[in-house]
Amino acid sequence: MNDDRATAPDLVGIGIGPANLGLSALIDPQPALTARFFERRSRFAWHDGAMLPAAALQVPPLKDLVTLVDPTSRFSFLNFLAEQGRLYRHLIASRSGTPREEFEQYYRWAADLMPQLTFGTEITEVRTDGEELTVHDATGGVTGTRNLVLGSGRRPHVPSCVTARGARVLHAAEVMHRCPDTLGRRVAVIGGGQSGAEIVHWLLGDKDLLPSSLVWSTRRDGFLPLDDSAFSNEWYFPGYVRHFTRLSATRRAALLRTQRMTSDGVSADLLDAIHAQLYRLDALRPGHCAYRLSPGQELLAVDGGAGDAPIDVVTRDIDTDSVHREHVDVVILATGYRNSTPAYLEPLRELIPLDEDGAFHVREDYSIEFDGPPGCRIFVQGAAGHTHGVADANLSLMAWRNAVIANAVAGRSLYRTDRDSGTVTWSPAAAPHTTTPHTVTPHAVTPHTVTPQESTARV
Ligand SMILES: Cc1cc2nc3c(=O)[nH]c(=O)nc-3n(C[C@H](O)[C@H](O)[C@H](O)COP(=O)(O)OP(=O)(O)OC[C@H]3O[C@@H](n4cnc5c(N)ncnc54)[C@H](O)[C@@H]3O)c2cc1C
Repeated sequence: MNDDRATAPDLVGIGIGPANLGLSALIDPQPALTARFFERRSRFAWHDGAMLPAAALQVPPLKDLVTLVDPTSRFSFLNFLAEQGRLYRHLIASRSGTPREEFEQYYRWAADLMPQLTFGTEITEVRTDGEELTVHDATGGVTGTRNLVLGSGRRPHVPSCVTARGARVLHAAEVMHRCPDTLGRRVAVIGGGQSGAEIVHWLLGDKDLLPSSLVWSTRRDGFLPLDDSAFSNEWYFPGYVRHFTRLSATRRAALLRTQRMTSDGVSADLLDAIHAQLYRLDALRPGHCAYRLSPGQELLAVDGGAGDAPIDVVTRDIDTDSVHREHVDVVILATGYRNSTPAYLEPLRELIPLDEDGAFHVREDYSIEFDGPPGCRIFVQGAAGHTHGVADANLSLMAWRNAVIANAVAGRSLYRTDRDSGTVTWSPAAAPHTTTPHTVTPHAVTPHTVTPQESTARV
């Protein structure tokens, strides 16, 4: 056993996706903090199984690892472009969006600069020895720490009504790994979000993939666009998170329903592109691919498919309550991702209270309620949507969230988290200067100690 407890870092991160990579980038220049991060994959990858060739980043590239809290950091996307000698060309090429693949390339470049990252090491268990947390990996290594940051991501969600298994039934998260044989076959894509749309666009746009028939169905009432409008974007500002965390659980749940299409809708450009593809199919290549796009369909079953037998996709039309059965050869489930308590936390299970939906009780500084040794904390990345708002699952506030976490671990302000104001006043009664012109408090880092209330307040 390789026991690293004698040199326990201040912080251990589990999983190296964009979230913990960003935390590492903020900690890297801070001499007062030590950290180690572990990733089970052999090198950095960003949802590589879903990396479709034309997929574009859904946020501006300034929402990179660091820029929104430290624009001078060497880990910025702009610095990556400059080092690659691509600044000028990117400015023009990115008018049609930043490829998601290019952002993965950027993340990989940043990861290569950080010695505190360890790849090819799966964390299997987290325990406590009564004084600190011990993080156990699959090779028998143990690392002690007092601060753990869970960045192991969400899991692809397969609805329980899907009983058909095998190579012809797959989740959107694995299409690029399993490369389904769709040419000239009957294909169903289930799910009307961005992933479903990207897959439909990919199938229709590549002559080597074009199905003989394509069904795209969703439970949503339509193929709904991403709400990227100006004021909705302010739900993705730090100030809104602070407001949101102070609301009741019932109000928060209602707001998340209202705000859903700012996160789960399909980018308008992609909807336009699919619409144009279907027009061209009908106008120029009639008979090449019979398609049916059906919203308002609740998935009841995906079964059959043994050997070469057809797979049955059974749906209920929400408008008419009629049931429809479709025989297809390939089913792609673009049915999203879910949070779940990571298996490696099982030894601490009794020490971590969960709510009735199995969610953590997350405090304002992203630490969770934890009845472990005094001074030991567990922070979460992307598992606080129910307490911190709709932005939690995407890249928008990752740099800011990491600044909040780094400050909490350090016990003082390494990074300012209160710099920017918004246009919207969320809580007039709590804002004394509502009619004063908004000013952005400039520059100097105000010393800001994380008070006990801030770091322990239950949201
Ligand atoms: C296909 C797709 C595209 C997206 N595109 C955008 C976008 O354009 N804009 C946007 O704002 N948001 C986007 N999102 C949402 C969000 O930004 C991403 O899901 C983001 O990757 C979340 O980062 P993360 O680091 O929390 O988790 P992940 O990226 O899921 O990374 C978690 C990492 O933890 C590792 N891991 C898991 N368990 C262990 C373990 N036991 N030990 C060690 N390592 C472990 C995994 O291998 C993985 O590398 C997208 C999501 C998906 C699914």
